[in-house]
Amino acid sequence: MIRLSAGTAACLGLTGSRMDAYPKTAYLLSGKRCMMKCSFCPQGLGDNEALNRLGRISWPEYDWTEVENRLAEAESRGIQRICLQSVRYEDGIETLLAQINRLKAATKIPLSISAWIRDENEAAALFAAGVERMSISIDAINPEAFREIKGGSQQKRLDLLLKCAELFPAKMSTHLIVGLGETEYEALSLINKLNQASVTIALFAFVPIRGTKLENAEPPALDSYRRIQAGYYLMRNKAAVFSDFKFKNEDLISYGLKKSQLAIILSSGEAFTTSGCPGCNRPYYNERPGRTIYNYHRNLSLTEIEEAISLLSGGSYSPMED
Ligand code: SF4
Repeated sequence: MIRLSAGTAACLGLTGSRMDAYPKTAYLLSGKRCMMKCSFCPQGLGDNEALNRLGRISWPEYDWTEVENRLAEAESRGIQRICLQSVRYEDGIETLLAQINRLKAATKIPLSISAWIRDENEAAALFAAGVERMSISIDAINPEAFREIKGGSQQKRLDLLLKCAELFPAKMSTHLIVGLGETEYEALSLINKLNQASVTIALFAFVPIRGTKLENAEPPALDSYRRIQAGYYLMRNKAAVFSDFKFKNEDLISYGLKKSQLAIILSSGEAFTTSGCPGCNRPYYNERPGRTIYNYHRNLSLTEIEEAISLLSGGSYSPMED
């Protein structure tokens, strides 16, 4: 058996459910019980209902053969990538290698993997098995928050990610969750470091989930999230450099660009769409349909683009006038 996100199951025709938006990536989840106890994640609760959830998404279980059959024709349903995510468990790597073999035999769609690995040798084994991209999640941006929320050393995870980025150039991704106690300076500074190492960043907004330790914590302010999205977009497209960014009390106050320049660079709205591996749109991972959208899984309307750009000016941020 293998778990699929509810949206993936609907997209592959495994349920009769109609969705408001379909994923462009098929999201699969390996492993039953996570050894980690991250304070934001329902997996840490350990009860059966919680084990069916990762983030705010539910992950029903399906028969492997049925999933393989559906994946063989997934491209015709708009699927551009498969993402095999794994919770951390004892024999995780062996299980993952066997699952990768099955997926590679079923389809030629590029495969991403997001898993807890011990070292670069395990990354090499996963790449050798046919993985196209791999994510080592950092999640918590502030090192102290990392220790408190995830446990252990952020530096060790970062060192492994950066080592893998050197060994497997332009093949590594990471997940960063905005809203776990970091400042805008800390977020953009870490994004700059990872971007310079050619690590692709999937930005998430923290979502408080009922029953978790952080159930009463607030999601990030939307204006702050937009500034971080725009900052990452400017850096990855070489439209601005981090050393020109200006901060006041660790809040971003300028990208070092004129207001009119910034409006042109951001005018496609792409800065505010889901970031991460190519084809990964993660519909409603951070938000409920009809509520505030942090990561747009689709192109934005003109009104949405204008709203997103005007939100940058919240807080201390004051774009330079022409
Ligand atoms: S960015 Fe998307 S496809 Fe890539 S590892 Fe993360 S969830 Fe998977």
